[in-house]
Order: sequence, then structure tokens, then C-alpha cells
Amino acid sequence: MIEDKNPQRTPLSELGEFKLIEHLTERFEITQKSTIKSIGDDAAVLDFKKNQVVLTTDMLVEGVHFDLSYVPLKHLGYKAIMVNLSDVCAMNATPTQVTVSIAVSNRFPLEALEELYAGIQHAAKIYNIDVVGGDTTSSTSGLIISVTAVGEVESESVVYRDGAKPNDLLVVTGDLGGAYMGLQVLEREKEVFKVNPNNQPDLSMYTYIVERQLKPEARKDIVALLKDLKVKPTSMIDISDGLSSEILHLCKHSKVGCDLYENKIPLDPQVISTCEEFNIDSTTIALNGGEDYELLMTISQDDFPKIKGNPNLTVIGYMTEESKGAHLVTRAETKIPIIAKGWKSFNEND
Ligand code: ADP
Ligand code: MG
Repeated sequence: MIEDKNPQRTPLSELGEFKLIEHLTERFEITQKSTIKSIGDDAAVLDFKKNQVVLTTDMLVEGVHFDLSYVPLKHLGYKAIMVNLSDVCAMNATPTQVTVSIAVSNRFPLEALEELYAGIQHAAKIYNIDVVGGDTTSSTSGLIISVTAVGEVESESVVYRDGAKPNDLLVVTGDLGGAYMGLQVLEREKEVFKVNPNNQPDLSMYTYIVERQLKPEARKDIVALLKDLKVKPTSMIDISDGLSSEILHLCKHSKVGCDLYENKIPLDPQVISTCEEFNIDSTTIALNGGEDYELLMTISQDDFPKIKGNPNLTVIGYMTEESKGAHLVTRAETKIPIIAKGWKSFNEND
């Protein structure tokens, strides 16, 4: 399904580690004022003046987090950066630098790493961040990518998971369930392809959701928007595992309950139609799908006029006393307890 655009295969052993690092990183440009020293020394040097620094890291392992039979390496590089930038944004911080470490087996030629780094470079350019270091090592099987991201935030603006209060509004950005349904489509096409390798899939009906899976975007724009609107959320988290598990994180850390309204959950029409096609309930997908990398936040009711009508922000419920628990209020107006059912790397059969 992935066409081999570059049939050349240069073994990594032909370059050696230093040449390889040089080759992969030579086109990275430095744009952040806070980057004092980048790739090339024993460590990078950053200067954030009075701002606070947020630091986060995430690892992606072949066979656990991604499947190279339908994820192009360029997209993988992009996504590895995005999942980290999303965590920085969830602190209400602006991402500024990343380091990228890779462990790679000799199954991968140089051209494969070039693709991976093209995706990383593209992400760095679009999001205006500097790649300031990393590590390169060999692995006996498969590919592992570990990215560490740095961001900056004025100390009074940082937002944690633990600040939500009863009566705060629960707000989500964008729409949910697309990434999961995109994965369903890609997995189905992979099975079709196994049976008939000449059968090129037609994904034109699924462009939005496949893109949500392969090319997620971190909501850096929302950090800027909140600043413009002069809204500081009382708590915030990014949606990596699915709405229900993230709501439960906010509830647990903030010691509050929650009423989430099923009819308020934002869904793209393509998610709805694909759910119908696959015969899956779209609410279940929005609650448990994961990988949408939208932001989930709580805001004080006093701030509601500032966000009202903004197409990026949807109020989906409100927080309650902890003793009330966390519930989904269904379209039929029954209350169902919210349970965590996100993606777990450790028990795939869940
Ligand atoms: P050291 O031996 O001190 O760990 P390396 O030879 O591993 O140094 O790395 C040399 C420089 O290249 C360092 O600045 C390091 O951060 C950077 N670097 C190494 N691997 C990568 C990579 N995969 N991506 C980006 N930068 C890298
Ligand atoms: Mg090193």
C-alpha cells in the first residue's frame, strides 16, 4: 500500500554513526531565540529568561505504537513530534525545542531514515521549533523513536490537571473519534491488500479521518487563542487516550465529578458515516478512541462569554462535586458512569 518512491537502499553501515547524524540533521534550522547551542556539542544550551520551562518525553515503539505496513515513515516522524508538542500545549505552554533519539535495526536503509527525518523536519518547520539534539543507536529488531519536547510559559499561565472546580465548564477543541476511525479504515485496507496486493485502495471517502490518524496536529493554535481571549483554563489535558479516560484524569486530580452530555460531543460527519459503515456507535468511539490530540479543559463559568460561539471550542458538560461521580448524560437523558477504556499498550486485548 505504501509505494516505494525511493528504490535506492544504502545500508547504514556505509556511513557510520557520525556521518549518519550529520546527514540526517544538516538541514535543521534554528529559529528560536531561546536556543543558544544546538546539535553538535555534548549538550544543547537554552535560555528562557523569566519564563518557566515545561519538559516532556514520549516513546514510540514499532509493533506497539505503529505499524510500518500502513504508516509511511515521513508521517511517523511528523507524528512522533506532534504527540510531544501536544503534551507541551496541554500545559498551556508554547513548544520551542525537541530532541529526537532513534534506535534502528539494520533492516532500515539510509533512505528510510531520510523519510523519517523529512517528517520531523516538516513538523519542526510548521510548528516553529528547533531540533537541538538526540541520540542514534542500533536495535536488534525494529524502530524506536523517543522524542523529548521543551516549551515555555509565563509562570502565571501554566495550567495543570488539578485546578478544576465544581460548576466549571468542560470544553473540548476540534472534534473527536477521527483518528480511531482512520485507523479502522487503514487496518481494513491492509487486510484487503494482503489478499490482493494489486488492489490499490481508494481512500478518497476517508481523507479527513485517515489524515487524523496519520498526521495529527498539536493544538498550539489553542494556546495562542486562549491567550488572545484572555482565558486561563482551570485545568487542561490533551486527548491521547480517549475522552473518557482524560475526563477521569481531570476529575481524579482535581477531586471533582462531571456531567458530560452525549449530544454535545463534537463529531465530524465523516466519523459519523464511517461509524455507520463499520456498525460502531460513534459516542463509544469519541469516548474511547484516542489519538485525536485535541485539548480537554475546564474553564470558569465567568469566562463563558469569551469563548461563546468560537468554532474551535465546544462546551460538552460541567464539573460537579466529587461525591456525584463522573457521568455521561445520554441523548435519552439517562446517566451512565464514565469508565476509562482508553488505549493501553500493556493489555492489547482490552
Ligand atoms: P555524544 O557521544 O555526546 O552522545 P553523539 O555523537 O551521540 O554525541 O551526538 C552528537 C550530536 O548530535 C549531539 O549534539 C546530539 O545531540 C546530536 N544527535 C545525535 N543523534 C541525533 C539524532 N538522531 N537526531 C538529532 N540530533 C542527534
Ligand atoms: Mg549520543
